[in-house]
Amino acid sequence: MSPSKNNDSQNKPNIAFIGLGNMGAPMAENLIKAGYKLSVYDLSDAALKRLQSAGARVAASSKDAAREAQVVITMLPAGKHVHAVYLDCDGSEGLLSSLPKGTLVIDSSTIAASDARKVATEASKLGIDFLDAPVSGGTGGAIAGSLTFIVGGEADGFAKAKPILDVMGKNIFHAGDHGAGQVAKICNNMLLGILMSGTAEAINLGVKNGLDAKVLSEIMLQSSGRNWTLEVYNPYPQVIESVPSSNGYKGGFMTELMQKDLNLAMQTAQAVDAETPMGAKATELYNEHSIEHGDKDFSSIMARHDKSVLSS
Ligand code: NAD
Repeated sequence: MSPSKNNDSQNKPNIAFIGLGNMGAPMAENLIKAGYKLSVYDLSDAALKRLQSAGARVAASSKDAAREAQVVITMLPAGKHVHAVYLDCDGSEGLLSSLPKGTLVIDSSTIAASDARKVATEASKLGIDFLDAPVSGGTGGAIAGSLTFIVGGEADGFAKAKPILDVMGKNIFHAGDHGAGQVAKICNNMLLGILMSGTAEAINLGVKNGLDAKVLSEIMLQSSGRNWTLEVYNPYPQVIESVPSSNGYKGGFMTELMQKDLNLAMQTAQAVDAETPMGAKATELYNEHSIEHGDKDFSSIMARHDKSVLSS
């Protein structure tokens, strides 16, 4: 459903939206455009002002935002922020303890599956439906309302959340029980980190042997090395227009977020003794690359092989 198509506010639950950063703000705006009544909270005044002008009620705290809400959505940086909001607000009891039974809680932050399961366990003791629902699709997908949601939790909660997620996303998957959304998201992003580093490595090998990056990319795209990065996100400058590599590696998906996700993948692997040698190598590469280039798009891993790409 396109965000602007449905603006009948009758029978729609009130939503508290907490965490209005690069992703959360446009997601919340799309819900308002679709006719949902939103109360919002963030630590940043600028973020609150943006949503106030879009039509949201600005709350004084997470608990205040959730006062009349049947649904709570969070889009926070990391597991510690999610725990701070739901379980322990500055040493006092967290938001979960103040929510009425039957509230639906959707956390779309990317966090460790174990952190998501901890909140889910506390929520179910209180009769609250908790879903982990991380997203793929970046800020462009958040603005366009075309995100992919990867949801973990019970089927009833998923059914209640689906119409709301449909406003913000195009593909909504139920991956399994609590934590499954985070596990699936981290498997995907580990593979993406491996594919991006491998693609950069292969292009560099060809270029150093005198090949044109565009010609080589076209050959691999029509051969068995074909993958998503070659299709739509080539790491070499000027092979694909309007991707970060053709724009000084600005915008897109920051290296430090890829680094965070790869390290979450390593934690998730260690917890179940799964071997991830390729994932471990990609984590090592992104940990090193983050030191200088954490704020650049993750395709800038190309610069590890060829520093000149940063000046083109
Ligand atoms: P961001 O840093 O831009 O936004 C996070 C917001 O949370 C900030 O506005 C911050 O002030 C707010 N916040 C932090 N602690 C808070 C608290 N206790 N109460 C209220 N507000 C609080 O991050 P983002 O880019 O929007 O990413 C959010 C999540 O989505 C992350 O987990 C990230 O990994 C994931 N994600 C991001 C992208 C992307 O392209 N940016 C893509 C997919 C997934």
